[in-house]
Amino acid sequence: ESFQDIAMGDIVMSNIALTRYTRPTPVQKYAIPIIKSKRDLMACAQTGSGKTAAFLLPILSQIFADGPGDALAAAKASGQDNGKYGRRKQYPISLVLAPTRELALQIYDEARKFSYRSRVRPCVVYGGADIGQQIRDLERGCHLLVATPGRLVDMMERGKIGLDFCNYLVLDEADRMLDMGFEPQIRRIVEQDTMPSKGLRQTMMFSATFPKEIQILARDFLEDYIFLAV
Ligand code: AMP
Repeated sequence: ESFQDIAMGDIVMSNIALTRYTRPTPVQKYAIPIIKSKRDLMACAQTGSGKTAAFLLPILSQIFADGPGDALAAAKASGQDNGKYGRRKQYPISLVLAPTRELALQIYDEARKFSYRSRVRPCVVYGGADIGQQIRDLERGCHLLVATPGRLVDMMERGKIGLDFCNYLVLDEADRMLDMGFEPQIRRIVEQDTMPSKGLRQTMMFSATFPKEIQILARDFLEDYIFLAV
């Protein structure tokens, strides 16, 4: 089993070659083909299983194949690319929600590695840090956004982020996000009118555990999903 067997585009393959990843971990081996087949996914996987690359690789692979310009062109055509403060609002093609600053930064680091020498620009926003600096970084362009829920709600209220063209949505460590009390913010983000509805976007949830609350979230956010436990 190699990454070649789960065929991804040239940019992704050459960026994998720049890392020390020689073979896919089990969650990567099973999740990547599911995500590439455009199905929604509920995956039970622990930290350390390689779950970050399991969702980033196929998402980036699909964004590279489509070209990030398409979503930006669509955002411009919508005629609402100015935020409340007059600067460009960003419309990420992919959103990854994570519970903590630490995890958000780890996901962002992987996203940077795998989007190297591509036109896809990842950004990260999280609470407890200077928002002005994060806004300036967003304004340089954002195709893939990694965010903690509270800070993302803040960015949306400031008119800095629009999710109208968010085709790929990931909830990472969903059980931890609920434990931390983020359910209202998560619902506010995912259930807003401008977010593509389930079935139109592709949604992937990762969680170490699968209690009742996560099952409800999966029922509400996922469309005809595949369940994977590794
Ligand atoms: P994660 O579960 O996504 O937090 O990943 C745990 C660690 O494993 C991270 O340091 C990754 O960089 C690393 N990793 C992920 N996939 C692979 C792989 N296929 N081969 C070697 N290391 C990996």
